[in-house]
Amino acid sequence: MTDVIAVDLGGTNIRAARVDAGGKILARDKIATLADEGLKAVVGRIAVLVNKLKKASTVAVGVGTPGVPDPETGIMRLPAVNIAASEEYPLTGEISRLTSLPVFADNDGNLAALGEAWLGAGVGEHVVLIFTLGTGIGGGVVIDGKVYHGHHNMVAEFGHVSICYSGRPCPCGGTGCVEAYASAAALGRDARDTVRKLPAGHTTALLKLCGGPAGVDKVDAKMVCDAARDGDELACKLLDQCCDWLACGIGSLINAFNPSCVIIGGGMALAGELITSRVTRILDKGRVFGPIWKDCTLRLARLGDDAGLLGAARMAHQALEGTQEHAAAPRSARKSRAGRRKRGKR
Ligand SMILES: [Zn+2]
Repeated sequence: MTDVIAVDLGGTNIRAARVDAGGKILARDKIATLADEGLKAVVGRIAVLVNKLKKASTVAVGVGTPGVPDPETGIMRLPAVNIAASEEYPLTGEISRLTSLPVFADNDGNLAALGEAWLGAGVGEHVVLIFTLGTGIGGGVVIDGKVYHGHHNMVAEFGHVSICYSGRPCPCGGTGCVEAYASAAALGRDARDTVRKLPAGHTTALLKLCGGPAGVDKVDAKMVCDAARDGDELACKLLDQCCDWLACGIGSLINAFNPSCVIIGGGMALAGELITSRVTRILDKGRVFGPIWKDCTLRLARLGDDAGLLGAARMAHQALEGTQEHAAAPRSARKSRAGRRKRGKR
């Protein structure tokens, strides 16, 4: 049986695993990303990890990256902001040269969705959306077991769906993006602002968790979730508001995609039912077209940190089987598809 090496390029660590065609992880390892040294050095460390894990049975490498690999060449067109690099970098070509294996790459949100659809919370589902709630909000779409890439591989920027016409500014340049309201960073910021404005004598578990008024700068989304779990009134109110905003974004995307399943993943998913129960309650009341919501379920991700790794493995297996468009598809195949599109237009 053949296997592939799956790589998850993160801001802190590069994680890798040798995975068989059934999704069994046969071996795993990790190495520090050291992003400050630039993408070329990072790619060198990816190759070291791949060469350490690969066996005679290894036939390909699948890489999940925070950036956007070009669908035709595997070149990174929009490198991850936390990894210093020139504007374009031949990611798949360089790793392939250093490991002597075919290399395929895709965005990490897409691959987390693919992993969950393959072996996690979305098994057997027709159309799967994933919302990854962390410092920001990412996403992915999987239709019939395949990643949906949109026109140019930049689909599922769920964090930048606008939920407020003249709302908060977002670093993307947009206004009212759901990421500016319902990400872990936004929840932490709102909690700090609220606690700072509390009248003297007001008690909240958040003040205890951060060590008193002098520690308000330490209040974060995890503290809000922990305090809400214990029933703290202020924390519950903050989380209710956050989930209301989140439900606005999720509801709009449910209307757009008619998914059979929506998965909540990322660091904030560790809050579990605290989030899914609130979002479900809000969607039951509105924010989504009723007949579409009736046939959709909201679930927590099941694979944790391994969703992206298993998605990268699945992508590599699919790429070898020729069943999936991916970042390193042969140019000839791409040209024939482009030719068909042009002919269709005429
Ligand atoms: Zn935005």
